[in-house]
Amino acid sequence: MERHEYDVVVIGAGGAGLRAAIEARQQGKRTAIICKSLFGKAHTVMAEGGAAAAMGNVNPDDNWMVHFRDTMRGGKFLNNWRMAELHAKEAPDRVWELEEWGALFDRTKDGKISQRNFGGHEYPRLAHVGDRTGLELIRTLQQRVVALQQQDEREHGDPEAFIKVFAECTVTRLLKDGDKIAGAFGYWRETGDFIVFDAPAVVLATGGIGKSYVVTSNSWEYTGDGHALALLAGAKLINMEFIQFHPTGMVWPPSVRGILVTESVRGDGGVLRNSEGRRFMFDYVPDVFKDKYATTEEEGDRWYTDQANNRRPPELLPRDEVARAINAEVKAGRGSPQGGVFLDVSSRLPAAEIVKRLPSMHHQFKELADVDITQEPMQVGPTCHYVMGGVEVEADTGAASVPGLFAAGEVSGGMHGSNRLGGNSLSDLLVFGRRAGLGASAYVDGLAARPVPAGVEEAEAEAIAPLQRTGGENPYEVHHELQRTMNDLVGIIRKSEEISEALQVVEKLKERSKNTASAGSRIYNPGWHLAIDLRNMLLVSECVARAALLREESRGGHTRDDFPGMSPEWRRKLLVCSAGPDASGVTVEERVQPSMRGDLITLFDRAELEKYLTEDELADYDAAVK
Ligand code: FAD
Repeated sequence: MERHEYDVVVIGAGGAGLRAAIEARQQGKRTAIICKSLFGKAHTVMAEGGAAAAMGNVNPDDNWMVHFRDTMRGGKFLNNWRMAELHAKEAPDRVWELEEWGALFDRTKDGKISQRNFGGHEYPRLAHVGDRTGLELIRTLQQRVVALQQQDEREHGDPEAFIKVFAECTVTRLLKDGDKIAGAFGYWRETGDFIVFDAPAVVLATGGIGKSYVVTSNSWEYTGDGHALALLAGAKLINMEFIQFHPTGMVWPPSVRGILVTESVRGDGGVLRNSEGRRFMFDYVPDVFKDKYATTEEEGDRWYTDQANNRRPPELLPRDEVARAINAEVKAGRGSPQGGVFLDVSSRLPAAEIVKRLPSMHHQFKELADVDITQEPMQVGPTCHYVMGGVEVEADTGAASVPGLFAAGEVSGGMHGSNRLGGNSLSDLLVFGRRAGLGASAYVDGLAARPVPAGVEEAEAEAIAPLQRTGGENPYEVHHELQRTMNDLVGIIRKSEEISEALQVVEKLKERSKNTASAGSRIYNPGWHLAIDLRNMLLVSECVARAALLREESRGGHTRDDFPGMSPEWRRKLLVCSAGPDASGVTVEERVQPSMRGDLITLFDRAELEKYLTEDELADYDAAVK
């Protein structure tokens, strides 16, 4: 079997993986980057709106403290506050670093990096490249990898001496030596041949879980692999009940349902209307945000040109609020003909300006729906977009609870609490990708001996099993049933009976998936690949459903019809998922969330905190203020 030895193996070549790998290589570590898609095709490429960083280029009042506050508010105070602090403080440096490595962001008139408005951000904060920011981010990070390889070619005569990419290669198991990580096992998608990586440190950067839902903005790679790999290796997942349904996905035609319509459309002036032509978001501003959002259309419109004297329009509320509002309008029979609502930018900006600011959106609607967004409104509705939950990590290093395992980016949990603000993912990837690369390198430096991987035969037997069965279950049917179940029963609005029903279906699907059979050979066989991915999607879906059933309140990306309010007691609790190495026995435990450090909590007004915290926590606040 093909075998390779590295110091650090990074699984995933999106923003988080590339930034982690660059850091590990810069620390002198022999680093592998493994990705199941083509190199350059990760979700990060699809990111449209931008990267949030409080640079203060457009509004000088912006700074890390305002960004920190916005992030905590967006996450409804369930965020890992240390992560939110590091993120707000370090994001500007990471964006600058990208420019040093060759990225070209859009500029303000005076030549600074331009920053645009986005939901939940008090000031214009998203550094962007039109609506193709993720593409520029990945292009720049890849260019940096190539530059490091050129340096290695000059110094060692081999461009891949210290950093090598293994593309179209899927990891199916992490390997261990006792309690420590010792490597990874996977297969080449093209040939089906197996491959073993021998490495004392593994960084997971595999992105999200959207393919467990039928309507999603996510593409085929998002099958929760990293989440499942971590669980199977003994690590824990937190916040899995929190799934972000982006308010604006395409709803028509059916073949493209779920594809994202960037929030920049609203950030740049687009408005949401129902079938009666009403800007309905004014009816949906929750109490906790009432003083921060405009109450009339006139004030909301003035805000685009005078932010000092007006409040934001409610179309720019955090995503969970907007998604729920759209859902309610459609349910009340005020939706658009194809089951969404109208998003109109055509009556708000000149056609040339729309094409300049939103080129991808213009192209996407023209090509896919035959709609010219400079002339008519789009029809949009909620789509499964992002998972706030993920691997529980130490904020400063990205270390998971299993020695040698690290995680960064969408696969990690904590940073965004119960709801992520738009733009906070690209900055998260850069900040915590770098930190995970540093953390993994320091861990390797501290090891007395290299661990020796065990469990290769078992991993091989597990991977090959679907090809050895005949007449078993069709993996596509199992997958489709899972997607429908999660969409319908653990979707945007949840209730106890439906979640319990979903858990029963997942249990049955788990049994069926043990018997999936894939016809054909190991050579580029998507049915076989899906049969392997099913284990991960089922495991992660079970975590989502179990945590969703336990959390008896509504907060961020978790809305319970039967528990509509937010409860201060629940804010103190994290739900922590574990599983056995054979994917059985998923358990969810409550854990008390550590209290926020005094100098951070006092960045907020007491009146605001009263909406979120318990009396005990408020007493701590009073003590910190004194
Ligand atoms: P990804 O970029 O998804 O990379 C995951 C990598 O892991 C891929 O290389 C994949 O091949 C690999 N992988 C997965 N499983 C395996 C396995 N088993 N073995 C080997 N490799 C594996 N966020 C913002 O902040 N701003 C935006 O404007 C924005 N726009 C978005 C638009 C869209 C359409 C979408 C879908 C998301 C958007 N987001 C945005 C969210 C953001 O893009 C993602 O959260 C982020 O890119 C995730 O990055 P990542 O590095 O964690 O993972």
